[in-house]
Amino acid sequence: MLPQKSDYKSPWKRFAVNISMVILLFISALFTGIYLNNQKTIEQGLKNRGQALFSSLIITRKWNALHGGVFVEKTPGMESNPYLQNPDITASNGKTYTKKNPALMTREISEIADREGTFQFHITSLKPLNPNNTPDPFERQALLSFAQGKSEAIGKEKREGATYYRYMAPLFVEQACLSCHAAQGYKLGDVRGGISVRFNIEGMERALMLNRLLLGLLFAVTLASFLGIVLRLVVALQKKLLAAEELIREMATTDYLTKLKNRRFLLTRFREELDRTSRYRHPISCIFFDADHFKRVNDTYGHEAGDTVLKAISATSQEQCRQTDILGRYGGEEFLMILPETDLAQASALAERLRQAIENQTSLVDQQQIRVTATFGVACYSPEATAPPDLSDFIKQADTAMLEAKKAGRNRVGIAT
Ligand code: GH3
Ligand code: MG
Ligand code: MG
Repeated sequence: MLPQKSDYKSPWKRFAVNISMVILLFISALFTGIYLNNQKTIEQGLKNRGQALFSSLIITRKWNALHGGVFVEKTPGMESNPYLQNPDITASNGKTYTKKNPALMTREISEIADREGTFQFHITSLKPLNPNNTPDPFERQALLSFAQGKSEAIGKEKREGATYYRYMAPLFVEQACLSCHAAQGYKLGDVRGGISVRFNIEGMERALMLNRLLLGLLFAVTLASFLGIVLRLVVALQKKLLAAEELIREMATTDYLTKLKNRRFLLTRFREELDRTSRYRHPISCIFFDADHFKRVNDTYGHEAGDTVLKAISATSQEQCRQTDILGRYGGEEFLMILPETDLAQASALAERLRQAIENQTSLVDQQQIRVTATFGVACYSPEATAPPDLSDFIKQADTAMLEAKKAGRNRVGIAT
């Protein structure tokens, strides 16, 4: 069997697909990691802001509650807290002061914050004294969860086309609260309600969206670059391997000195041609030829000169060959030519042409002209024959005809009978 051209395509395709999948997975995991980490940091930042707003309000309320409410001068238009008993007092200077308890203070701070557009507070409970403090759906859900032991609630909502972040934590009943709220049945440590904080995050949402888009773009570019590089490498590697395979195949079938096909190739191809011949019943011929007195050439001019002459004989023989003929070096100074679809007369004529061409050629080595001759043996299988010849018998026929011609004086063509 001659080395066959292997099919490198499918394993390379599989390799390229597999490596692409690995890259896809790796880059997807990397970018998902980056995205999730980003998201976590942002969520944490929002929560921190909610917590900070909440606790600053709690401290302010605590201060107010510690004083049992704070009296401020009642200016024109200012309403007294309708949920307090006796909210107003008149001082010895004749001025009226009205009491701002933590709940009212919280609402008034919330109104200022709202006007300034930065954030909003809402104090609320499941049993509000003031109907303004009735919880909205988010707050109700949060209050119910606080009753179950949860310590905070977060959420996002859309309002008038903008996105708001919501944070809520419970308010516990402290000693200071009981003076006003004991009548509602509260005990120390009970969840009395909660304060929710809301702030606009529309700008941030837009920035986040842009960030997501950028990240997606970066993902696509990174993936495409990696895949491009890997696929280029795979293609280059495939080319190199195919070239190496081609070289190995060439070396395995070629004679290193003459660059003609070697004996292994010749025998394999000859067997194939004989098979075809017997199947289609076409003629086939072979020419066996051997350089005359070649030992003398080596002895007279040296082995290197002998090599040069062998190369010259090979080149001349190759020139005489047709496209379908197969020429090779059978061994030493012996050559074999296989001539498919060729009868004895055509083969003999070709051998004679080749004999003359070798006889007329001169090899120039170290300013010395070397001339050689060769002796030929021709054998032919014609389709009229009963059985196709055995390969070695066929070569032997041509070889014997060549040896007879040597005996008859060399530099001639012998025909197998
Ligand atoms: P004949 O006409 O009977 O064939 O005589 P011959 O001298 O050619 O035959 P013989 O078999 O006695 O010698 C063959 C010679 O061919 C001897 C060998 O050194 C030479 N030869 C075989 N292969 C090579 C080769 O690759 N290079 C060189 N330079 N010489 C070679
Ligand atoms: Mg010989
Ligand atoms: Mg010889």
